[in-house]
Amino acid sequence: MYLCCNIKKFLRLLLTDAAIFAICGLVFFVGRKVFRSSATSEEESPVPLPVIMYHSVWDTSPSEYVVTPEQLDSDLKWLRDNGYSSVSAEELVRYTHGQGALPDKPVLITFDDGHYNNLSDALPVFEKYDMCFIVSVVGSYTDSLAPADPHCSAYSYLTWEDISALLSSGRAEIGNHTYAMHSNSAGRKGCARMNGESEEDYRSALRDDLTLLQTESAAELGYSPFIFAYPFGLISRESVPVLRDMGFLITLTCYERMNYISRDPDCLFGLDRFNRSGLLSTEEYMTRMTKDIEA
Ligand SMILES: [Zn+2]
Repeated sequence: MYLCCNIKKFLRLLLTDAAIFAICGLVFFVGRKVFRSSATSEEESPVPLPVIMYHSVWDTSPSEYVVTPEQLDSDLKWLRDNGYSSVSAEELVRYTHGQGALPDKPVLITFDDGHYNNLSDALPVFEKYDMCFIVSVVGSYTDSLAPADPHCSAYSYLTWEDISALLSSGRAEIGNHTYAMHSNSAGRKGCARMNGESEEDYRSALRDDLTLLQTESAAELGYSPFIFAYPFGLISRESVPVLRDMGFLITLTCYERMNYISRDPDCLFGLDRFNRSGLLSTEEYMTRMTKDIEA
């Protein structure tokens, strides 16, 4: 009887130990799996992102800053045929904040200065290839130059109604290219700090200028841009805290280099771009732009 009780007790202990062992094992394996999957997401490789910088799209006389609609068509066809997908600024911001994924071969397509032909001539080509793009406008051009001589594809700038139409297309996002700092002749060069200007004065001048366009965009479009394109790619490091403080999430430069996008929102500050000169063929331009990833 005593022996029988002891055997029962022994078996009970054995079963309890086995159960504890099994539970510990389960916790260990599940924990290891969770740890491994979070380690994998932390180890995601940065994604190469080429950024194209266009300006005007017009029929005649391609130049360093003008491509023909046929060249634009040929570029987007090349991108599609070579597996690239256009991504929006919003997708990039979401991605860097840990949400969503990027396509295998993303490309960001941008236009500077706010030419009317971005609506009249470029938009139909983007619709044809189901792609999206950013147009960074100059506030004073839209306020003064555009209404004075609107809707000529050769030389007009976008009016506020045109910008609304671009936004309504669902294919375009709008960036700030300064209100009145798009000048490289006398005095200030683009929105760079001037020689002898105090840091405080510079920050205040930049903030005042950018605020004009942000406020007007909010009133005219119900939307304030979170993308900023440096005029002529002229950058002062003192501009960065101003732009961050104003809520900009993406800044665009003119250095011709590949970008690498990680889950860190900071990687969207200072995206480098390749100017699409109309003097190059699609093949020449694309080979240059993608040489770091297609090699
Ligand atoms: Zn410009």
